[in-house]
Amino acid sequence: MTEDAERLDDIGEEEEISEPEIEIEEPVKKKEMKEAKEKKPRTNPLGILFNLRMLRRFIQIGFFIAINAYIFVAWFHMPNVTGFFLSFRNIIPSIPILSPLEAPFAVIAGSFDTIQQTFTTGLFPFFTLGAMIIILIFVGRAPCGWICPLGTIQDFVTLPKRNKIRPAPNTESELRKVKIYIFVIVTGLAVWLGFARATGTGGPLEAALGAFANDAFAPLNPANILFNIIPNLNWPEGISTLWYVYSWGFAWLQIAFVSIIFIVSFWVPRWFCRWLCPAGWLYSIFSREALIGIGRNPARCTPDTCNVCEVVCPMNIRIRKFPYQHMHSPDCIMCLECKSHCPNNAIVIRFS
Ligand code: SF4
Ligand code: SF4
Ligand code: SF4
Repeated sequence: MTEDAERLDDIGEEEEISEPEIEIEEPVKKKEMKEAKEKKPRTNPLGILFNLRMLRRFIQIGFFIAINAYIFVAWFHMPNVTGFFLSFRNIIPSIPILSPLEAPFAVIAGSFDTIQQTFTTGLFPFFTLGAMIIILIFVGRAPCGWICPLGTIQDFVTLPKRNKIRPAPNTESELRKVKIYIFVIVTGLAVWLGFARATGTGGPLEAALGAFANDAFAPLNPANILFNIIPNLNWPEGISTLWYVYSWGFAWLQIAFVSIIFIVSFWVPRWFCRWLCPAGWLYSIFSREALIGIGRNPARCTPDTCNVCEVVCPMNIRIRKFPYQHMHSPDCIMCLECKSHCPNNAIVIRFS
């Protein structure tokens, strides 16, 4: 039986798995768990509060609020706090996340969003691309794992669900290709429109593209829908203006699309990031050889009897298939869930 066949046999199509008891024979698992406990360092009593997972959650929430400072105005009427965040707006470059430029009070724009819009103006986004590549080379896709508001929402929706669906490897790799197709289409349209505008022939194409003209991904970009389109809708202010919702039109479809993303995330962690996000694919091109990454300590790792790191990985990466020294996976978002859950403390952060 080939390795792939064995894995398919282990996992099965669309299998629902629970953490971390799968694929390990009972006597072997008990022995492994016992050994792991013996190897584990003494527990820090403050570990519940001060650990990697909690740190990431705090940072995710902090950036979610900071990136979309408008909520202080809209919900809490705190203009001074909003003003503090907005003072950063002109000095922070775009970063490799998904964050629309048009969000009314957004502090940081996403590199992908900025690149798309720059292309449609007929210019080449030298500065944005350069800043994006430098960030990705240094920290890989850590902004996806620690900062991106869309990733944060998906992570928090997934949290209560312990049994998650993980497609078989072949299905997963086919689904991952969808985001490449989306990237090619939306970037192709942006470059085409930019070229047409630069040569003074953009009018007919712009008219034909309609809402997709200035950024072809924007109407389907969940960050744009959530942080730009929904806040700018004509909201009812009372019973007498309830009929406003009928004027929302296409926005209803967009709201349904975003809702589906979050509902499915309950069972399938980060499925939008893994399969649909064209920004994530762009970032993955430059993060493969990032200076920071994940490795496994061969003296501690027991890959034949344990797969906990793969079960908890939100990006469904086959961690054990990579060399021990450095896992150069373009899909790794440096969330460090594998490190937090490894029973043998075998996952290490590598700088190279
Ligand atoms: S892949 Fe996910 S985390 Fe990364 S930019 Fe896209 S939505 Fe955000
Ligand atoms: S690195 Fe993964 S396979 Fe190795 S011991 Fe840790 S959880 Fe198990
Ligand atoms: S390999 Fe580890 S750090 Fe990378 S995405 Fe998976 S769980 Fe996160």
